[in-house]
Amino acid sequence: MSSSDTENGVSFEIDSETELILENLDRFIEQEIRPLEADLDDVLENPRVGHEDNGRLTDDYLAAIETVRKKSADAGFYAMNMPAEVGGSGVSNVTWYRAITHVFSKGLGLNEHVLAGPEGPKPLLLLADEDQRETYVEPVVRGEKSTAFAQTEPVAGSDSPAMETTAEKDGDEWILNGQKQWITNAPYADFAQVFARTTPQEEAGRYGGITCFIVERDKWELGSFNNTPAAVGMQAELRFDDVRLPADRVLGDVGKAFYAAMDFLSLGRLELGAQAVGLADYVLDRATEYAREREAFDRPIGDFQQISSQIARGRAKQYAADSSGLRCAWKMDQDESVVEDTSIFKWFATQTYWEAADSAVQIHGGNGLSEDYGFMEHLNYARLLRIVEGTDELQLNTIAKQHGLLESQ
Ligand SMILES: Cc1cc2nc3c(=O)[nH]c(=O)nc-3n(C[C@H](O)[C@H](O)[C@H](O)COP(=O)(O)OP(=O)(O)OC[C@H]3O[C@@H](n4cnc5c(N)ncnc54)[C@H](O)[C@@H]3O)c2cc1C
Repeated sequence: MSSSDTENGVSFEIDSETELILENLDRFIEQEIRPLEADLDDVLENPRVGHEDNGRLTDDYLAAIETVRKKSADAGFYAMNMPAEVGGSGVSNVTWYRAITHVFSKGLGLNEHVLAGPEGPKPLLLLADEDQRETYVEPVVRGEKSTAFAQTEPVAGSDSPAMETTAEKDGDEWILNGQKQWITNAPYADFAQVFARTTPQEEAGRYGGITCFIVERDKWELGSFNNTPAAVGMQAELRFDDVRLPADRVLGDVGKAFYAAMDFLSLGRLELGAQAVGLADYVLDRATEYAREREAFDRPIGDFQQISSQIARGRAKQYAADSSGLRCAWKMDQDESVVEDTSIFKWFATQTYWEAADSAVQIHGGNGLSEDYGFMEHLNYARLLRIVEGTDELQLNTIAKQHGLLESQ
């Protein structure tokens, strides 16, 4: 029975197609990714080695990421959730969810790039017309090009409709002005999906009047890197100074981009939560192993209840988060509304990973703080996941609103 089969109610059984994908992913990671990681040993073990002074990834590191992306696309994994008409395999959300948790349960490293993240195709790109699909979307699905989703600005993050970037019509062209920040993959993207206000809020309303443009790399000026300990070299500012864009660079309908982006929020939350579920599994496995081996006061530290209960609590939450993620993915496959579900899931899964990473640091004692063990990288990454794709507070607001609270916001 398929895990999204409704005939006999919900099934948590892994269907044979997904099982095969997960087995093939294991083989792919062992045969293709591990040798690349071995070549990049220093970079992966010491983050300072893989970056230039401003944070930019070194050419070797970047080339390895591009190789992973291309090989994964050739093997049919990279954007397998995209529909067949743009070159994907159209796998279900349940399968995509399971693939992400599976890949991330192997930890952080080059495997992070096996399945399309923010640099890859997202459903917003399916609004592309035929020419745009051929030039921009299909090469991204094939792993040949990469993109960036550019919404956040210095003045507008959670409150993104307050954006100040504008695009004005001038004959057949648009003139784009403004600045974006924290844009993932901005330093390396071939093109970006840039959100700009094309009609003032007073006329179009708060969520109307925002248009998405496909902007090629040679049209923007790259500003400072927005480095964080967990993702050095991955985010940066983009500046647009009187950039002229032909009319065929509008993605989707003029003035409707905000609504379109809202339609796809749930998938982003599912994907990030899936990463958190996989990574919580990874750090808990490693903490358990250490608790069994490390001895203090003549016994393994796992024999101390204060240590074992940290792992048990983490396991209970990771189990609950995983069940919640599967339920969200299944409901998405049934085309049911998941506004509240994916906020619950993203909030809970990322909190769970954060707590599990903190326990892993604690259980490893001094080694937990050491760069050699990598747990501080997890703690930083977990912290990051609680900000992106809607902060903790925004997820809780969404949940509260579904119950008739916060109506004035
Ligand atoms: C590593 C990283 C990668 C990113 N990648 C991208 C990207 O690819 N593309 C992109 O467009 N953006 C990206 N962002 C930006 C990200 O989406 C924003 O940082 C996020 O939405 C929060 O916005 P902000 O940082 O402006 O914080 P603010 O919106 O200023 O929020 C500050 C604090 O106020 C709280 N707050 C705000 N409003 C409310 C409210 N109504 N109720 C309660 N609390 C509230 C927030 O929860 C937060 O705690 C990225 C950010 C990071 C750190």
